[in-house]
Amino acid sequence: MYQLLDGKALSKTIKEEIAREVSAITAEGSRPPHLAAVLIGEDPASQAYVRSKVRSCEQVGFQSSLIRRPADISQEELMQIVRELNENPDIDGFIVQLPLPAHLDEDEVLLAIAPEKDVDGFHPMNVGLMALGMPRYLPATPYGILQMLERYEIPTEGKNCLIIGRSNIVGTPLSLLLSRKGYPGNCTVTLAHSRTQNLPELARRADILVAAIGRPRMVTADMVKEGAVVIDVGINRVEEHTAKRGYRLVGDVDFEAVAPKCSYITPVPGGVGLMTVVSLLLNTLKAFKLRCQTEVQV
Ligand code: NAD
Repeated sequence: MYQLLDGKALSKTIKEEIAREVSAITAEGSRPPHLAAVLIGEDPASQAYVRSKVRSCEQVGFQSSLIRRPADISQEELMQIVRELNENPDIDGFIVQLPLPAHLDEDEVLLAIAPEKDVDGFHPMNVGLMALGMPRYLPATPYGILQMLERYEIPTEGKNCLIIGRSNIVGTPLSLLLSRKGYPGNCTVTLAHSRTQNLPELARRADILVAAIGRPRMVTADMVKEGAVVIDVGINRVEEHTAKRGYRLVGDVDFEAVAPKCSYITPVPGGVGLMTVVSLLLNTLKAFKLRCQTEVQV
């Protein structure tokens, strides 16, 4: 019988831990940690993600600010927002929700975010620190996956781990983190992508299989080893006329068929997505603490 890696329950527990820390911080007379989110345009998925981030801030007692601008904002206007957030001492960390509309230069924006406020962990400085084993802010989704493995005490040392998908925000950083020395880590990692050959064969060898592809139910039961740990990062909308909104969210894993073969598996929704938001909160709390330390030193 498989065990569910329950992102809902775990994220609730971690949020309660954060809320207790925030209470202690404010009881000492300090302001609470403050996260800002920049949302450009009307993309429904991005709106939903940002809403969930703002709601989570409220739940743990953080202050949050949402900066919304229309899709036709110019690059210069957006860069100005980033500069102001960098300089605002009342904001500990901020995110620019991706993807940005096509006319905007995402790389220029990410590079302009002050590394000490980059709680998404996407700035090259933070990616570099992570790669060298000196982590500051880990990218939220891989960080959420590490926490799941850790809190469920899933052994990782010496395990064969297959990660499908090599994006800069999930697959690539996770491959670095799971191959590092330490726990969770010490895995033998294979990073698969759209040009990989013999994917089902590689998948069948995996003790830990992570799917971060963006293709509904692509990982099927015949690709999964008996007893594997399966982490489904995918969030895909599939049309379903009987559903209230006309669609349903499904992962990259065919959950019903795959779950019976697993030792552990994440559901979608209710899995990695919720852990991602919690990781953002943890990074913001860290940003707040780093900021306090710097202020004391000055
Ligand atoms: P992406 O869309 O940037 O890239 C997809 C990756 O999948 C690429 O590296 C590509 O090489 C690989 N791929 C595509 N087709 C493949 C195939 N047939 N075989 C093997 N590999 C293939 O990836 P992303 O931004 O990491 O997003 C992946 C999925 O995860 C999406 O569904 C996204 O919505 C979801 N996501 C979820 C969270 C969360 O918090 N749960 C966070 C980020 C992304």
